[in-house]
Order: sequence, then structure tokens, then C-alpha cells
Amino acid sequence: MDSYVHSTFGSASPFDCLLFDLDDTLYPSNTGIGKALKQNVQDFLVEKCGFPESEVVNVNRDFFRTYGSSLAGLRASGYDINPDEYHSYVHGRLPYDLIKPNILLRNILRTIKQRKIIFTNSDRVHAMNALDRLGIRDCFEQIICFETMNPEISTSRRPDEFPVVLKPSMRAFRIAIDAAGIEPQRTLFFEDNVKNVAAGKALGFRTVLVGQAIKSKDADYALETVTNMVQLIPEIWQNEESDKMIASTRGEMDLVIAPTAVGA
Ligand SMILES: [Mg+2]
Repeated sequence: MDSYVHSTFGSASPFDCLLFDLDDTLYPSNTGIGKALKQNVQDFLVEKCGFPESEVVNVNRDFFRTYGSSLAGLRASGYDINPDEYHSYVHGRLPYDLIKPNILLRNILRTIKQRKIIFTNSDRVHAMNALDRLGIRDCFEQIICFETMNPEISTSRRPDEFPVVLKPSMRAFRIAIDAAGIEPQRTLFFEDNVKNVAAGKALGFRTVLVGQAIKSKDADYALETVTNMVQLIPEIWQNEESDKMIASTRGEMDLVIAPTAVGA
């Protein structure tokens, strides 16, 4: 299907679905959550896996680059790490109060009629906590997360038999496509990680690099912050009925994004 046909003026939005990464996409990378997470992962590598403290920064970075996460790297290297234990260790102690409610984002999401789905490498508990802190959990119909991509892993006694599946692997994306029943060519995928953007693009998604002003090679759009979608991706609100409908949606949008007096 040629998506250009759908994006011509006066026709329906080219997007049936918006698929969002969570961490560093729906909240910014400078909240301190990412830093705290990195520290917790490094502590886990020392305390639970016996890595020397002097090596954990590099080990963590290499695992992340090669496997998508330290959990995936550990299991691929033969460490029999229980994912639930790992997640409760690295996420359980995160300072979630650093994530502030985002009323603007909530209002924007509520004007979007298309399906909205989360696609994160994080576990479900973390995803729910972060979405609750942002005040946007009810804006999404589905959360595709670690557990969705790795349904059998907790019961596995052979870490090498059940390698962790995460973005950017093609398998992770195929699981997401099936779980959500989406058509990549009609889905807008928001993501801060350039590798994940590239993988999404390779599968036909329309891609949005979040957290950068400049597009990466595989990004169709770049947004410094996710709420910039209003200005930079107006096609989301495109309506086939008439230009008047678009105008009314834009009017609606002006209302929701106007500064409102919030109880002090
Ligand atoms: Mg992310």
C-alpha cells in the first residue's frame, strides 16, 4: 500500500496506529531515571554476577550495545539470571518521583483518535509505574513489553536455550506486530534509540526519532521532545471528511495545549 496516497491533503491520516517506546521517549532522558538505572545495573553485575567493579561500566555498555540489555547479555553469556529478580533489582529501587506528570502530553494523546500502543524493552511493572507517574497510562490500549517478547523465559533453566528477545531484534518487532495486529506501513513508531528506529524502518514502519532535532538515516521525523508531534507531524490529525474537520481538530488542539491554570 502506498502511504503517499493517504497523506495527500484532504484525505485520511496516513497512520492507523501510534506505537511508542517508553523510556527516554515519553519522558526525557535527563530526568535522572536513566542514570539511576545504569547504577542499579552496575551494582547487579557486581553483587549478583561477581564482575569486578572496575569493569562494570564497560561490561554494561557492551551488553547494551550488543544484546539490547544487560539481562540479555548475561543470559547470552551463560549466566542463569531470573528476569523477575533482575527487573525487581534494577527497577524496584528507581526514584520514580523524578518522572513528573505530563499534562500537555496527556492532552495531546487524548486528541489522537488512532490506536496508541506502548512497545518497550522494560518489564511490565516498570512500564506501569512510569506511565502512572506521567499520568498517561489510560491513554494506551496495550503495553507490549519484556514479558510479551519473552513469554517462556522465567521457566527456562537453560539461559542459552531461551535467549532474551528485545528491540532491535526483528523477532521482537514481529512479536509486537502480531500482538498488536498492526500494519507497519500504517503505523508511526516513536523511539529514542537509533538502532531501534533503523530496525523499525527495515520492517516498514514510519519512524520518529525522539530526543534529537536532526533525523537519523532511518527516521522519517525527528522530535526534540515527544510533544513536538503537534507542530511537526500534523498528519496524525488529518481527517478525510474535510479541511474544516482538520481545522476543528487544530482548534481543539490549541485549546488543549494552551497554558492552563493548574492548582498550585
Ligand atoms: Mg527508549
